[in-house]
Amino acid sequence: MHTTALVLFSGGQDSTTCLAYALSKYDRVETVAFDYGQRHHIELDARLNVLRELRARFPAWAAKLGQDHLLDLAVLGEVSETSLTRDTAIAMEASGLPNTFVPGRNLMFLTLAAALAYRRGLQVIVTGVCETDFSGYPDCRDDTMKAMQLALSLGMDRRFLIETPLMWIDKAATWRLSHDLGEQLDSHGGGTALVDLIVEHTHTCYLGERSQRHAWGYGCGSCPACELRAKGFAAFRDAGSR
Ligand code: ZN
Repeated sequence: MHTTALVLFSGGQDSTTCLAYALSKYDRVETVAFDYGQRHHIELDARLNVLRELRARFPAWAAKLGQDHLLDLAVLGEVSETSLTRDTAIAMEASGLPNTFVPGRNLMFLTLAAALAYRRGLQVIVTGVCETDFSGYPDCRDDTMKAMQLALSLGMDRRFLIETPLMWIDKAATWRLSHDLGEQLDSHGGGTALVDLIVEHTHTCYLGERSQRHAWGYGCGSCPACELRAKGFAAFRDAGSR
């Protein structure tokens, strides 16, 4: 029986939905993020804002929400040239992958998360990877997650479960999931409150843009992350009003 979880929590829409999912399911939940010299510290600020707002608006979840961990992973910036850590434009590489791809990133995240979960006595690792709105990132594949679960469980001699609640759903369904999780907890507007919290406080935009507020939140509106978020939000809203 699983009762404790560690959520890979970046402060974006997906990982915030994963955090709500874990809080709805487990008794004790901790969060972890990695600082690897992201061009924009906005993401790291967003996660603190989301944690604060979650605690304030959802007291039942606040009671389960434990320690937050931020691990320095600057070494990742040393070994990879990527538009997320350097000042270059987002583009496609010859490999067919966008240059936002950081080779080995999720593998390192999961390895460090498992080491932390081991020390903290946490059984489940929850991550927002997804094959549906797939940028072709090979380290987001379901098979990669299953292989990591096996490797980490064997290598640490501790049975870890890697849970990926967003693996097979698109962005519209991710908005829907967050709405339903909020509603489950508080049928008097909890769904709307959680969606509003995600719109207002999470950060997804690759360019770190927060000066423009759209119906779906802040962002440049034209990078791939903003486009996905905006499109998903519109589909979620359209489905809701029919
Ligand atoms: Zn953007």
